[in-house]
Amino acid sequence: MKKLKLIGPFKQLVTMTGLPLKGALSDEQLTIVEDAGILIEEGNIKAIGLFKNMVLNVDHTTTEITRLEGDHVCLPGFIDAHTHICFGGSRAKDYAMRNAGKTYLEIAKAGGGIWDTVTQTRKASTEELIKKIIKRTKQHLKNGVTTLEVKSGYGLSVTEELKMLRAIKSSNAQTPLDLIPTCLAAHMKPKDFMGTNTAYLKEISNTLFPILKEENLSNRIDAFIEESAFSKEEIRPYFEKAKEMDFDITVHADQFSTGGSAIAVEFGAISADHLEASTDKEIELLSKSNVIATALPGASLGLGCAFTPARKLLDAGCAVAIASDHNPGSAPMGDLLTQAAILQTFEKLSNAEVLAGITYRAAAALNVSDRGQLKEGLLADFVLFHTSDYHKILYNQGSFKPCMVFKNGALIFDKHKTS
Ligand SMILES: [Zn+2]
Repeated sequence: MKKLKLIGPFKQLVTMTGLPLKGALSDEQLTIVEDAGILIEEGNIKAIGLFKNMVLNVDHTTTEITRLEGDHVCLPGFIDAHTHICFGGSRAKDYAMRNAGKTYLEIAKAGGGIWDTVTQTRKASTEELIKKIIKRTKQHLKNGVTTLEVKSGYGLSVTEELKMLRAIKSSNAQTPLDLIPTCLAAHMKPKDFMGTNTAYLKEISNTLFPILKEENLSNRIDAFIEESAFSKEEIRPYFEKAKEMDFDITVHADQFSTGGSAIAVEFGAISADHLEASTDKEIELLSKSNVIATALPGASLGLGCAFTPARKLLDAGCAVAIASDHNPGSAPMGDLLTQAAILQTFEKLSNAEVLAGITYRAAAALNVSDRGQLKEGLLADFVLFHTSDYHKILYNQGSFKPCMVFKNGALIFDKHKTS
């Protein structure tokens, strides 16, 4: 086995380096290396440069050289910073009912809604959940995603949330993608919990939080702040406890009503996700903080609602990430690139803003600094498209798929071999 790998040439390699974390971006700010190569050592990028010079300079006895045929554009592996892909059952019937004009209550009465997913997820064994997660990660991988956040939140009891988070942890060991687990036990108070919202949150934080640490199941605590889920007042002691225990905090914020983003800022959350209902007041608050604003166009498309005001957020100086929110109820599509491309046309975003939203700004939304850009020392996670012009990627609105995906320097998806 040779120690080093050199791959290239790439007609364009978009590094996503040298860009600010916050605020608007123009395509002119992108660094594009032409006819580039990537030198990889033990899963990390050792160097980026002109492929033909690199071929001359590397030691051929220790370097395996892969020479690509045709034109390729190389981008950092995509990062989907918000998903709910650990679930049982399907909500296809709900989806049809909602589109046919049925109300939330009518759907719930017919046995649908989030409680249906909770019931089906509770029924599933750990092994069944692992199978489902792995199947869904393969779909994301084909779309160029190399790092995927996965939330719990359909178990809604200490035992069932543990089952979900253990399934996510096992899946991570069985898939080439990196799965980043988040505890969303505060998705809603389960129907079968007889106490108050506060009592439920107290039970979760007292009992579940220490086990998350012990078993290293998740370093991230999420909560759904909404009239139908938890209020600001109810969530404060929960987040205080999470902070005391050194968890990262992330929030489902301002989806239908405002309030969540203010809590995110108050608690120094890593990210505030959704924000479809955010007004100028919330946008200003977020812009003065270090909270990453994560847009979830998949939920807007699934619900037929307004998009997150990404343009306004960027112009106000926020860092905007874009994630799929892949879930069985409101965002069943699970195609980050398509959704990001659609958000781009509605919100008038530059290519740089969209690509940043699914690479280095998404990395920031997960509080990881070893990926999301192509530069020396970072993980060799990258995705290749069969074209000479990176503009074609978003221009095709997601129908143009990657031809190869590399994770830690290893080829983990090759379209030529699977199609
Ligand atoms: Zn969500």
